[in-house]
Amino acid sequence: MAVGSGRVPVQRVLGRNAGLMTGPGTNSYLIGSQQLALVDPGPVDPGHIDAVLRVLASRSLNWIFVTHTHGDHSPGTVLLQQKTGAEVIGLSPSAGSTHQDHSFTPSRIYHDGEVIDCGEFRVRLVHSPGHVSNHFCFLLEEENILFTGDHILEGTTPVILPPDGNMRHYLESLTKLKTLPLSALAPGHGRMMDDPNGVIDTLIRHRLRREQKTVTGLLELSSVSGPASLEALALRVYDDVPQHLLPWAQRTLLAHLIKLEEDGRVFRTGDKWSGVHAYG
Ligand SMILES: [Zn+2]
Repeated sequence: MAVGSGRVPVQRVLGRNAGLMTGPGTNSYLIGSQQLALVDPGPVDPGHIDAVLRVLASRSLNWIFVTHTHGDHSPGTVLLQQKTGAEVIGLSPSAGSTHQDHSFTPSRIYHDGEVIDCGEFRVRLVHSPGHVSNHFCFLLEEENILFTGDHILEGTTPVILPPDGNMRHYLESLTKLKTLPLSALAPGHGRMMDDPNGVIDTLIRHRLRREQKTVTGLLELSSVSGPASLEALALRVYDDVPQHLLPWAQRTLLAHLIKLEEDGRVFRTGDKWSGVHAYG
């Protein structure tokens, strides 16, 4: 499926891994017309890799960009790199991190702000920690399309996964994106979005509202029944979320609590949490 309408072609190849956490499936994007780049090969799925190679046809794949090393984004890199010899661009998972694809090996060390010259087009690397620490967004400079991986999703908000994920970094990364010239967001899951600043502002507001709801909920709970467990607090703060998503909501709630603890607005006793009354 073609996306965008500019002079550098961008095509989306939808992965076959639809599910609770992946929506319609992982988006792989092919960029360019002769020497191509791919964003996110997806999971190890020979059927999906074949679909990418069919779209590629006789053209060469020279660059593989990987937003982050979760199992639905990066593990297909090894197979695709073997078939094409492409340069692999991304960040390794931090040592010892769990739920990460440790098979992922970038071609060298890459840095925030670096621009990869792909001849027909250029791609700027934008370090965007928060969902996980090794997350990159990629800016296609000719089109001002930002490939957002799991930093920004269409139709839902990403889970922030402590300890590698970090709510403060997530909010800082969102604010940083507002300094970029953006015409569209190409997410790792869901459809393209053509109001980047509106989407980013909505996400920031959503997170700050959830943060305030966390503080208020915790003060109310702890004033009635003492320090609250994560589970009890999640039921209160995420009362708008379906039951089956609560285990994931708890992870993001923990990310909120860790940030609020650093800000001196909540405190932890063992595995229970209390609010700090603000006076003045
Ligand atoms: Zn992810």
